[in-house]
Amino acid sequence: MTRPQNVIVTGSTSGIGLGTAHSFARAGARVVLNGRRLNDAAEAVLSEFRERYGHDNVIFAACDVADPGQVEEMVSGTVDAFGSVDVLVQNAGIQHTSSVHEFPLDKWDQIIAVDLSSVFYGIRAALPRMLAQDFGRIINVASVHGLVASKEKAAYVAAKHGVVGLTKVTALETATVNITCNAICPGWVLTPLVEKQIHARAQANGTSFDEEKRKLVAEKQPSQEFATPEQIGALAVFLASEAAAQITGQALPVDGGWTAQ
Ligand code: NAD
Repeated sequence: MTRPQNVIVTGSTSGIGLGTAHSFARAGARVVLNGRRLNDAAEAVLSEFRERYGHDNVIFAACDVADPGQVEEMVSGTVDAFGSVDVLVQNAGIQHTSSVHEFPLDKWDQIIAVDLSSVFYGIRAALPRMLAQDFGRIINVASVHGLVASKEKAAYVAAKHGVVGLTKVTALETATVNITCNAICPGWVLTPLVEKQIHARAQANGTSFDEEKRKLVAEKQPSQEFATPEQIGALAVFLASEAAAQITGQALPVDGGWTAQ
């Protein structure tokens, strides 16, 4: 592709999405940032991106990814603003921890909607446009929990396994055209979503944040290190490149060895 890629990154005002949006913008892409609403924090991210990467190269789409109508509007708004959607990074996600028999019904429904159904809504909205232009890269941020389970994450593990399955179906249905669909499966990445879990563990165990942070990684991730949002972003940029044209339907762990065990 000779022109800059037009890239939507959902849930990109913090954590992995923010790092991934920076990675694409640094690589010369035009970026659509997304959050549920344009609040002060989102405004600050938008201003910083416009200053760093050029005012016309970044827009913000206020969209709740759990609402199929809003997802359709985000995709059509991107086409109106930039002319196409070339890359769709579906990263927005939430977590709740509880034993399976005590899992609150509303949390189950919310996690399935935000972490799984949203991925279907995005594919449904973007794929017809990608098919029409004979180019597309769909990158779903799943998790190691799309491949293996952990206790007390029933809805999240179910949703992320679902994302990996949906990724494979989409890849098979687009295998003969210039479109790929892959999932990235991070292990622990130190973001607000994980910090919340560390705080909860510190409170439950009467320990410090730093001690629980160290224990969290030690339990699961053989490297004993967190992955970074920038490392996830760099893989997403690679998956969007010509070099990755034959990688499709894969679930790629970035997990310091977690799923090798
Ligand atoms: P995060 O909380 O920093 O980011 C999640 C983003 O999604 C936030 O910006 C939030 O505002 C947004 N979001 C939530 N619900 C939304 C909705 N309905 N509509 C639009 N945006 C919404 O967390 P993160 O760790 O950066 O998580 C990003 C993705 O990576 C998630 O899908 C998560 O499951 C996945 N993941 C994270 C880790 C990790 O260790 N941090 C590991 C594996 C997978």
